[in-house]
Amino acid sequence: MTSFPATARLVRDESFDPRVRRVRLRNCLYHFAPFGFHATWDHLTTAHRVPERIEADPASPVRALVLPRAAAFAARRRLQKRVGRRVPATLHPWDSWGCHAIAYCPDPRKHPVEPLPVVVGRVLDACAAGVEPAGRCLACGDDARRPQRACRLCGVLPGGRGTPR
Ligand SMILES: [Zn+2]
Repeated sequence: MTSFPATARLVRDESFDPRVRRVRLRNCLYHFAPFGFHATWDHLTTAHRVPERIEADPASPVRALVLPRAAAFAARRRLQKRVGRRVPATLHPWDSWGCHAIAYCPDPRKHPVEPLPVVVGRVLDACAAGVEPAGRCLACGDDARRPQRACRLCGVLPGGRGTPR
């Protein structure tokens, strides 16, 4: 299986057909999808206006690629700092598997609207603090979180994919 950086290079390679590059962008989510695969894909295509008919905007996959790369980098650095590593351990710190579905959204059309790095950073900071505030959403801060139900505001399911809806 390829890595996130290797797949991302294929997205940026303009020698490929735009339709192939769009598929490669989707393949990046096998490596990093903080909201879960479908919700992260919906977030990226909506936030960066990646059209279904990619010929209308062939540059859009590269725009969308910036977001998961930045989020993956931030996530990796937080995890490294938590274990006391102040200097990055790798030249490609965005090649991370550590934050897949950390803010899982069971409904792919309902997910946080804030940029991925902001949401991922907030969830990681809350996890690093080691205390999950009762009734409060780690992703958006909504104080009316319902136990074992997706957040009414941002769609994130506390506890992740294994939690009943
Ligand atoms: Zn929320």
